[in-house]
Amino acid sequence: MTQEKALVLFSGGQDSATCLAWALDRFAQVETIGFDYGQRHRIELDCRAALRAALLQARPDWAAKLGPDHLIGLQALGQVSDTSLTTDAAIAFNADGLPNSFVPGRNIIFLSFAAAIAYRRGIKHIVGGMCETDYSGYPDCRDDTIKALQVALNLGMERRFVLETPLMWLDKAATWRLAESLGGAALVEALLEHTHSCYLGDRSQRHAWGYGCGTCPACDLRAKGWAAYAASETP
Ligand code: ZN
Repeated sequence: MTQEKALVLFSGGQDSATCLAWALDRFAQVETIGFDYGQRHRIELDCRAALRAALLQARPDWAAKLGPDHLIGLQALGQVSDTSLTTDAAIAFNADGLPNSFVPGRNIIFLSFAAAIAYRRGIKHIVGGMCETDYSGYPDCRDDTIKALQVALNLGMERRFVLETPLMWLDKAATWRLAESLGGAALVEALLEHTHSCYLGDRSQRHAWGYGCGTCPACDLRAKGWAAYAASETP
């Protein structure tokens, strides 16, 4: 195992929590960073502390590696974007085919702030849950976007950051399998119980796949991914 340090973009969702587990399995020291940009589903942010604790319950040997959490206020991002994630607009698809939950440039901004923290903390690896496989069409989740940004950050900050995206080529079922391989059934259950994906912030109903309204695009993706994972588990 490497002695290097990692900073994980940790929103409180399934993908970022799986990335945190992946980093804890791989690196000597791991810190987390989250962003409060006025997102409508703030409940995701509120899940973060409990989720960090739940991961350590599933894998107590990770406790010595897990360092501080950085919560960064980015209210300006909510002010400059008019999307269904930050306003009360219904989830819909724009004329260009992108869902209106798209916050333009969000991951570029997040990774730039993460790099600034990593610079200060002497951290080389920055880990994010971006995924090109069954994503919602967000162009800033694409592998090429992340690779281009890595080059820009390394030039602009005179560092050798590595932007790690362990989920880039996994579908949701494979993401569950990755979690299982990292922490067994206990980690899968911790993710089901404590991660949040629903765009509407609904935690009133617990389904087999976790909490959510069950009808928004995020719940739909999560339910289908869980069903595919569960089916692949059956002998
Ligand atoms: Zn939902």
